[in-house]
Amino acid sequence: MLNRIFLSVCLSAICCYTYAQDNTSFIIKDITLIDGSGAEARSHVSLVINEDTIAAILPAGTNYPVKGAEEIAGQGMTVMPLLVNGHAHVGLLNGTTIAAANYTPDNVNRHLMQYLEYGVGTVLSLGTDQPAAFIYQDASRIGMLPGASFYTAGYGFGAPKGVPPVAFGPSILRPVNADQALQEMRRLATLKPDFVKIWVDGTPRMLPEIYHAIITEAHAHNIKVAAHVYYLEDARRLVDAGVDVIAHSIRDQEVDDSLIIAMKQKNVCYIPTLCIEEFGFAYATLPGWFADPFFVRSLEPGVWDMLKTGEYQKQQSDERERKMKALQIASRNLQKMDSAGIKIVMGTDSGAQPVRAIGFSEHEELLLMTAAGIPPLKVIKYATYNGAAMLGIERRTGSLAPGKKADFMVLDADPLLDIRATRSIKAIYKNGKQIQ
Ligand SMILES: [Zn+2]
Repeated sequence: MLNRIFLSVCLSAICCYTYAQDNTSFIIKDITLIDGSGAEARSHVSLVINEDTIAAILPAGTNYPVKGAEEIAGQGMTVMPLLVNGHAHVGLLNGTTIAAANYTPDNVNRHLMQYLEYGVGTVLSLGTDQPAAFIYQDASRIGMLPGASFYTAGYGFGAPKGVPPVAFGPSILRPVNADQALQEMRRLATLKPDFVKIWVDGTPRMLPEIYHAIITEAHAHNIKVAAHVYYLEDARRLVDAGVDVIAHSIRDQEVDDSLIIAMKQKNVCYIPTLCIEEFGFAYATLPGWFADPFFVRSLEPGVWDMLKTGEYQKQQSDERERKMKALQIASRNLQKMDSAGIKIVMGTDSGAQPVRAIGFSEHEELLLMTAAGIPPLKVIKYATYNGAAMLGIERRTGSLAPGKKADFMVLDADPLLDIRATRSIKAIYKNGKQIQ
């Protein structure tokens, strides 16, 4: 109820962000289509959009009588679904700072707009949100919040005096025993988060009896649980406890068959977040992308200058060996999970640190997934359909088929030949409306 009252107050501020184009019918003719389902690309097809929905996908040249439909030439273009980021942090980052105080309506709107401008149509904000998140969640669901669709885990669970850092704010729940964990999970469930987030890392670390209580209670409310992990043994215990999503790569050692078998049996998703390791050492010297406008414009004010300071470069070079090793192990584990048929979902942890830029991170993650040996067609499925399936919204979005939302981007190069083509965005459509 409280949510709804706040909602009506806040929407007046949000409504000014309406999209330029009204809903219409239009046809994008003669494109190559990657539908996100993992099916082979189809060339020379036309996409027919009616209002906010894909009405038909037809061989190019077919006559499709839609009264007054605008025709858009698409020769040489590739269309793919908007990305779904299964591990993001919205509203926390502002300039070079990470703080709960940054979580203002303007900042949340700005981040959601930036995600969408980079082709990310849906984000799951994992456990660093503030009370207003539930207002944004409502607003997003009824189409009143601009930018990427906003899903939230609300307040994540961490360890007292442990992970995550205090900078994430006072909303983080840090139960000291299983009973408190149960009570807090019960209260969180009344707010209807889309997911639950737990951190199991560092010292002191969340005890298994505490995450058992959280997971069991979350499941009693039909809410899935995603866990921050680093170590194989934590992942093993979490999977035994019923966790639904491993929200980072396992980075201390190669995963073994027993974990993979258990994850498969329990249908556990795996989110590699490879880019966070790369961003931990990439600025020891200036990387090849440093002057690329696609990168530069994704950074918050002040971050570009921060990255090239001697102090930052030294910090990164001190970490270089450890993070490179972690990336290697993570890449190998992704390959193993993938070949075993584990459900992989793209996620980046963007917005959790200034160096993890919103938008650029997602495209870099796609590149790192292919560098780990996953073919681009599969990487695109993991970054679209699989993310939507993890959120339970795959019947509406995350792939392109008649009856689904017209949520897609138009590229002027083919990402199956080189995944970096996802950066060559010519146009973005969400709910059938052109955003840019
Ligand atoms: Zn995170």
